[in-house]
Amino acid sequence: MAETLIVGGGVVGLALGMLLARDGHGVTVLERDAEPPPPDADAAWSSWTRSGVNQFRLPHLFLAGYREIVEIELPEVAEALEREGAVRFRPLAGIPESITGGRRPGDERRELLSGRRAMVERVMAAAAEGTGGLEVRRGVSVGGLLVGREAVPGTPQVVGVRTESGEALFADLVVDCGGRRSALGGWLEAIGARPPVEVRDDSGFIYYGRHFRSPVGSLPPHLGPGIQEWGSISSLTLPADNGHWSLVIVARADDRALLGLRDSARWEAVFGSLPTVAHWLEGEPLEDRVVTIAKIEDRHREMWPDGSPVATGLVVVGDAWSCTSPSLGRGASIGMLHARALRDTLRSVGPEEPALLSEAFRAATATSVEPWWDATHRADRHRLTEMEAVAAGGDYRPADPSYEASKALLAAAAQDPDLLRAALDIGFVLEQPDAVAARPGLRERAMALGGDWRSRPPLGPDRSQLLALAGA
Ligand SMILES: Cc1cc2nc3c(=O)[nH]c(=O)nc-3n(C[C@H](O)[C@H](O)[C@H](O)COP(=O)(O)OP(=O)(O)OC[C@H]3O[C@@H](n4cnc5c(N)ncnc54)[C@H](O)[C@@H]3O)c2cc1C
Repeated sequence: MAETLIVGGGVVGLALGMLLARDGHGVTVLERDAEPPPPDADAAWSSWTRSGVNQFRLPHLFLAGYREIVEIELPEVAEALEREGAVRFRPLAGIPESITGGRRPGDERRELLSGRRAMVERVMAAAAEGTGGLEVRRGVSVGGLLVGREAVPGTPQVVGVRTESGEALFADLVVDCGGRRSALGGWLEAIGARPPVEVRDDSGFIYYGRHFRSPVGSLPPHLGPGIQEWGSISSLTLPADNGHWSLVIVARADDRALLGLRDSARWEAVFGSLPTVAHWLEGEPLEDRVVTIAKIEDRHREMWPDGSPVATGLVVVGDAWSCTSPSLGRGASIGMLHARALRDTLRSVGPEEPALLSEAFRAATATSVEPWWDATHRADRHRLTEMEAVAAGGDYRPADPSYEASKALLAAAAQDPDLLRAALDIGFVLEQPDAVAARPGLRERAMALGGDWRSRPPLGPDRSQLLALAGA
């Protein structure tokens, strides 16, 4: 069994810590933010200081892929989430049987267990505190890596970390779960490692979001998918815990004509003009202003440039490995898949074989999460360019058959129960897009029913109406 140091106690680092501790590994999570989890969801929302996670109080939806792993691997966390008011959202139950074809075996996989980010992380953190073999040290900031005798000649072997306060901590394996702002690049440079190959750019989106609460505790009904495209903007309707939900308008960050959306009255006017989501405004806003976030990085780290690892004794998981724009809400689910992949890898090869472990985890990353990053990144790029084309009054026609296929699938989902489930399986991070596309006859049927998506009349405001509502 391995002694493991996890840098970062966010939603993925904590879950990974619990997964490894359950397998008998000794685990220490080092978290920079000092404050322990507060006693309940509302305190977590209103007063938990978590400056290490920029998006801590921004809208989140935890998808079915996340729920599934939590329920199977960490059932006590799933139980605590429900006990503390997480919403169990069954999208198929809210859709007429004429569309769903009635309940089918496997539909239970398509359920979500979600809450505000602060609430979900509080539950995860409280469960971690009570996990045997796992120590969470808060208020400890890691400042660099320690190296020992090389296992692979010419490749630094990481044997621990150095904290900002000068403490040296040793382990068989160091896992970077430091999130989007992980400082790993600088740490690797400092130990003389080759740099990982990083793809990094601004995702190009801006999020205008608000949280709401129902005075009676019930959530508005979904009259369409949680993410809906309205030309040059998208809307997100995200159910959360204890009668809360959040609403987001996503736009291009350089669409300056829409900057008026920072004003809550204009934001409400625009949201209220979107016919299938306007009713979600009927709640009490938690914030008195629109919360915005832009300059969100898409980043991907390849730790094996040129076919060999930049360092051994070290792996990278979750957002520290790769992150994309959050509009599809996949980050936590992809991170959980990655955490489970590391747990499974360690079941077959231990840190006493550093080169083999590094190679095995690289392979597990390639099959379990790499396709999700690729698909999400590609979808984001398409959507960004499409928004630009619509804003300019044009039409977006990329030479990418997978773009046409995914548009057709979404357009056809309400016309065919199998296509509906296929769209949910991809959207909820339950089955990789290529595997879904390979279902017999699926592509053909999606094109036959939804291939006319371009000619369907738009339901929401046109661009000039949108600009008028946004005060441009
Ligand atoms: C605006 C926005 C909205 C999002 N919405 C969704 C959504 O709806 N659904 C979804 O699934 N995902 C969403 N995401 C993505 C999701 O938040 C991340 O995928 C998730 O937080 C990743 O978890 P993590 O544990 O890898 O990293 P994080 O949660 O970022 O945690 C990293 C932790 O590491 C700590 N740390 C960093 N450096 C050090 C150090 N040197 N020493 C000690 N500790 C350190 C930090 O303090 C932090 O606690 C969203 C992201 C953004 C930006």
